[in-house]
Amino acid sequence: MAEILILGGGVAGLSAAWHARQSGREAVIFEAGERSGGLLDNFQVDGFRFDNAVHFGFSNNDAYRAVLEKTDYITHRPEAYNYERGRWLKHPVQNNLFPLPAEEKVKAIKSFVERPARSETSDYRQWLKEQFGAVIAERFPVRYTEKYWTVPAENLSTLWIGNRLYRPSLDEVLYGAMTDQTPSTYYLPELYYPRHGGFRAFIDPLLERLDLRTGKEAVYINPQKKYVLCRDGTREYYGHLISSVPLPELIDMLDEAPGAVKEAAGQLWATSIALVSLGFNAPRAGDYLWFYIYDSEILPSRVHAPYRKSPDNVPPGCSSLQFETYFSRCKPLEISPDQLVEQVTKLVDQMKLASGRDIIATDYRVLPYANVVFDRGMTERRDYVLEYLNGLGITPVGRFGEWDYLWTDQCFLSGKKVENLPAGL
Ligand SMILES: Cc1cc2nc3c(=O)[nH]c(=O)nc-3n(C[C@H](O)[C@H](O)[C@H](O)COP(=O)(O)OP(=O)(O)OC[C@H]3O[C@@H](n4cnc5c(N)ncnc54)[C@H](O)[C@@H]3O)c2cc1C
Repeated sequence: MAEILILGGGVAGLSAAWHARQSGREAVIFEAGERSGGLLDNFQVDGFRFDNAVHFGFSNNDAYRAVLEKTDYITHRPEAYNYERGRWLKHPVQNNLFPLPAEEKVKAIKSFVERPARSETSDYRQWLKEQFGAVIAERFPVRYTEKYWTVPAENLSTLWIGNRLYRPSLDEVLYGAMTDQTPSTYYLPELYYPRHGGFRAFIDPLLERLDLRTGKEAVYINPQKKYVLCRDGTREYYGHLISSVPLPELIDMLDEAPGAVKEAAGQLWATSIALVSLGFNAPRAGDYLWFYIYDSEILPSRVHAPYRKSPDNVPPGCSSLQFETYFSRCKPLEISPDQLVEQVTKLVDQMKLASGRDIIATDYRVLPYANVVFDRGMTERRDYVLEYLNGLGITPVGRFGEWDYLWTDQCFLSGKKVENLPAGL
């Protein structure tokens, strides 16, 4: 019997256990995988270390900052780039049009000036036009949306945007069209990355004195009798249940959930990533820490350089790149792993990032849960499901437990909910 049973040992689950311990309570984590970390984990290929996609530390929250500060880290300036039709533009494109031909800049700026007035629209495509004008919107973020979110922009709501997209003034657009000496307008001033051990080193401080049980995949929950069954036959009774399991999967474990709840949960879906990671026997691979690719015919939408995050990620004298290709039930990946690796390998030469001949490590893997998709009506369906869980006394945490666009620090904070659980069983 666990006073507090936590499903999932990603940062949200680890944080819940850590906060429980801080308040003098006992918690047990059941993690389906072989070790903790979830999305923050990494893997090694022939001496190269790769995170599960691009990951940097940042936060305004003091408690999470205190966790980050326990690890020796490197500070990076957020200097991202964009690749489109053979050109490299600083990020974000809307106020960095400098590399475009003059006539294209004129069209983009005119359309920015003539953009529709800002409204309360909940249609992401319309929202983009209102911020940037139709020319910039359609050429850059609308195309990127289809690659990254795997849906047409008009199918997305605007509820996830927050401060993620920079909305420049006319002066900034004009300035960025005339020079590439523009100030950084990225929504974060700096990014942190552990000097050693990959991104997961940041969460090591949460692992002390933890009751983590790996290989425990929860498959059934009986909320009346308050127990969880695992695939390996383990039955564990609990006082309080906290879950970071993806919401649709959690509802599948609750046999008695009403049809309407199951239907709402069944309509929640996320993107997945096909990750291709390459190690090079050469000291340089591209010039950027990370960049976005807009061309529709190139499958990956984002690429980052693990060796630039920290040299500890590669053997001496080597470099590395990781390519993210997004897919989902709306846009299946219609290419085999071998074909994707072959395409990416060719891309390395085409984009002049490095020489394909220098590749000495290759890895392909799929991350099944990347981003929850904010298609229209999603938040209503999600809130309906969360309300049902609330009635059962199950506390959801984390990106897929709460079904939200949460960063690591927000997942850490969601683990703090454990402090609100009533004492006793
Ligand atoms: C491409 C990408 C880039 C990102 N970049 C950044 C970044 O730069 N900075 C940042 O702060 N955040 C970033 N994030 C977000 C960050 O990765 C997540 O917010 C965070 O890792 C989510 O943690 P979690 O614990 O909620 O979920 P997860 O990490 O998914 O953990 C859930 C855990 O539950 C386990 N589990 C699942 N089902 C079961 C079951 N039935 N029984 C038991 N265990 C189960 C899983 O194995 C997993 O370990 C990024 C995310 C993505 C996808």
